[in-house]
Amino acid sequence: MKKVVKFGGSSLASPEQFRKVGKIIKEEDTRRYVIPSAPGKRYAKDIKVTDMLYQCYDMAERGEAFEALLNKIQDRYEEIIQGLGLELSLQEEFRVIAETLKKKPGRDYAASRGEYLNGRVLAEYLGFAFVDAAEIILFREDGIVDMDQTGEMIRNCLSQKEYAVIPGFYGAFKDGTIKTFSRGGSDVTGSLVAGAIYADMYENWTDVSGFLVADPRIINNPEVIETITYRELRELAYMGASVLHEEAIFPVRRAGIPINIRNTNMPEEKGTMIVESTCRKSKYTITGIAGKKGFASINVDKDLMNSEIGFCRRVLSVFEDNGLSFEHMPSGIDTMTIFVNQSEFEEKEQQVISGIHRAVQPDVLEMESDLALIAVVGRGMRETRGTAGRIFSALAHARVNVKMIDQGSSELNVIIGVKNRDFETAIQAIYDIFVTARL
Ligand code: ASP
Repeated sequence: MKKVVKFGGSSLASPEQFRKVGKIIKEEDTRRYVIPSAPGKRYAKDIKVTDMLYQCYDMAERGEAFEALLNKIQDRYEEIIQGLGLELSLQEEFRVIAETLKKKPGRDYAASRGEYLNGRVLAEYLGFAFVDAAEIILFREDGIVDMDQTGEMIRNCLSQKEYAVIPGFYGAFKDGTIKTFSRGGSDVTGSLVAGAIYADMYENWTDVSGFLVADPRIINNPEVIETITYRELRELAYMGASVLHEEAIFPVRRAGIPINIRNTNMPEEKGTMIVESTCRKSKYTITGIAGKKGFASINVDKDLMNSEIGFCRRVLSVFEDNGLSFEHMPSGIDTMTIFVNQSEFEEKEQQVISGIHRAVQPDVLEMESDLALIAVVGRGMRETRGTAGRIFSALAHARVNVKMIDQGSSELNVIIGVKNRDFETAIQAIYDIFVTARL
């Protein structure tokens, strides 16, 4: 049994956090490959090392003196090294970084040093080998990871090492130039390593106890989802729920490896298991609720639209020609509605309207703005009668006017459109009917 374990920035921001991480890793000898992020925030107003590094690079690029800021970054690592009583010195590393920054090596190089240095410290603390991610994660020229080569390089390297620390967030192009993933990308590194070595589990340790049923900024202390499928996760993540980097799903999913989201500060909790499929029923019929504000709808009416072949295509091609993607498209017999991102749409509004007039000569063309979309997601909905009924009676009781309903044929989710101002009330009402009422 072998596990790949990734620790987020807040789990590695101070000596105390490092101790918790060390204890977790040493508790199970299956936790063999460790992926650290850069030190994150120690308290709410703190600054992440990655952000400091970006700032440092921008100063270097403008030809400004960045040394004082780089010293502050060094202090962050010194605090950890001394707090843990390690012998390690990063003096030479920082000298090299300062020299290299003057040569303007690219923002990605600067940002990647956060993970690189934290990896050095963690490897020393654990007594594990250190593997530089630049040697095993290869980017193609178009900036996408070369999956085959990377897989092989990871396997070759780690087959020689029983335990290792591999810094997250970056890899390199063929010529050695450092390239990072987008922000939060250490999740992707963990997933690539887990997928390549056919790990039994990818544990992703963070500062929350798993994936929550709803957004904690809206619902007070929401329940944790015990088990979620990759497809459910995609639906919720698309609607704004976030714990994991979006690209972190694919490498492990392809290899059928489950992800376990865990809380470094509460290791006794089981967290959330993300799996390909499961016969475990979710606790509350629905698995989760997520949503986003800021949509607009364009309603196109035309008598006998249903018998006009190619009508939808002509309308949609107007959006395509204007580079707009649409979110949902509920339709009736002589009417269709297109939901789009409001801020993207606003810029092209007039071109789209005249385009639709020219393309299909509608009887009526109406628009509505300030709309929110809410996704109620759950693999359990397929087998349960009355889910939609419960959602809509809860919304009616909460005096929320439903503007749109869309149920995917997979019966995995119901999408509901409401006014922006009703967004929070609607989520609370749906949460209460499925979760609070069952507690
Ligand atoms: N340190 C990087 C960031 O702050 C990557 C990560 O933490 O995953 O985005």
